[in-house]
Amino acid sequence: MKNSKYKITIGLEVHVHLKTRTKLFCRCPNLYGSDPNTLICPVCTGQPGTLPVAGRESVRQAVSAALALNCNINEYSIFERKQYFYPDLPKNYQISQYKLPLAENGYIKAGGVKIKIDRVHMEEDAGKLVHREKETLVDYNRGGAPLIEIVSAPEITSPPQAAEYLKKLRQILIYASVSDCDMEKGSMRCDANLSLNLKESSRLGVKTEVKNMNSFKAVENALAYEARRQESLLLEGKNIVQETRLWDEDKNKTAGMRTKEEAHDYRYFPDPDLPPLIVAEAFVEDIRESLPELPAAKMERYIKEMGLEEYDASVLCQERDGADFFESAYEKLEDKKEGIKKLSSWISTELKGKMNAAGLDFKSLEMGPSFLAELVNLIQNGKISGKMAKDIFEIIWTEKRSPAEIVEEKGLSQISGEDKIERLCRKAIEENPALTDKYLSGKEGTIGPLVGFVMKESRGQANPSMVNKKLREILNEKK
Ligand SMILES: [Zn+2]
Repeated sequence: MKNSKYKITIGLEVHVHLKTRTKLFCRCPNLYGSDPNTLICPVCTGQPGTLPVAGRESVRQAVSAALALNCNINEYSIFERKQYFYPDLPKNYQISQYKLPLAENGYIKAGGVKIKIDRVHMEEDAGKLVHREKETLVDYNRGGAPLIEIVSAPEITSPPQAAEYLKKLRQILIYASVSDCDMEKGSMRCDANLSLNLKESSRLGVKTEVKNMNSFKAVENALAYEARRQESLLLEGKNIVQETRLWDEDKNKTAGMRTKEEAHDYRYFPDPDLPPLIVAEAFVEDIRESLPELPAAKMERYIKEMGLEEYDASVLCQERDGADFFESAYEKLEDKKEGIKKLSSWISTELKGKMNAAGLDFKSLEMGPSFLAELVNLIQNGKISGKMAKDIFEIIWTEKRSPAEIVEEKGLSQISGEDKIERLCRKAIEENPALTDKYLSGKEGTIGPLVGFVMKESRGQANPSMVNKKLREILNEKK
């Protein structure tokens, strides 16, 4: 869309499964992956005469999410019935919120831009249809599971920005422990709408909605495709049809599914079985106080108080478990001011490299943060060299033992004793007369091979900067 006369407007509607013990309106367990139709009861299968009751834990999680997204919480909100007929919905309506949602007017900062969140509302999930060759089966385990829907304002201006918004949203919700936001398991789902309008015009164009993307990359690709498709229609003088389109990952294109429903098609009305949801101020304040430090605040603290560079801070803050790991290792550093940079780079490169290769995350990591702190301490106080630290790290990784113990046991500690280094240096000079002569005749570059000789003699345990210094001292005496 470079050099196009159109500009893109994107809005995102994201459904997120809340982490709770029970479903939204009954006490069935809220679990993923159980046998079909084992987590159901008369309420969540919509039997006549049953009454839903909103669970406190679901409301608490929804409020946590809304606060983490900088929203205002409405003290008074209403559950409404959204009518539609589909076999995954036993009541033929979904309990949702419409006119008065739980929360409004929040924002997310993505890529340096504030993107407004219009609303966060609560609703129940539908069941799941499993299509087979000649039949379709229905599993109601997911029916009635608590969801929040997060609706952004139509303020996103490019497909990459949409992906950035989603990454931030996911990061914040995981930090706040309200959801695991796993797109593959369906605990985070995104519908995106996109329209084009002439750059000089402020009137928005006709939008299409895209569904069925199961990764952030897919959202970005689907939106980029949709923008190109709309642009070529408009350039041909054709109209855009307001419709819902499905993203086909294999074909890398969207295809029309149905013309888009308007809100009035759902005939929303307040659910007479449920009283208005009253969220007292004290309840909200209690949740606000118990929210953990969120990524933006954490990053600022890492930069301002700990002195990290912005890039390093953002890498460490990517996920909460990783930040917790870093912070407990940081606490154990002997020289915090000098060691922090090393610690941060060990976590971001060596440790994360190993974790990625082994398919581990910080939760499943067996190596404790204290081992890494100990390793950095050993480097800082000159007991081991950076090169040796890498070897020791390999042993810590496989044997899960303390680095000090490994150094002791394998006799690995760096040779920093002046006498021993001097002896090794004199030996290097005696055994390499040609190199020595060259150095003395002014070719100082030959110091490199001499240092190499000492390192080899000491099996890598000599402190290289001390060797370099000592060699020069001895050689310069000979000049
Ligand atoms: Zn139930």
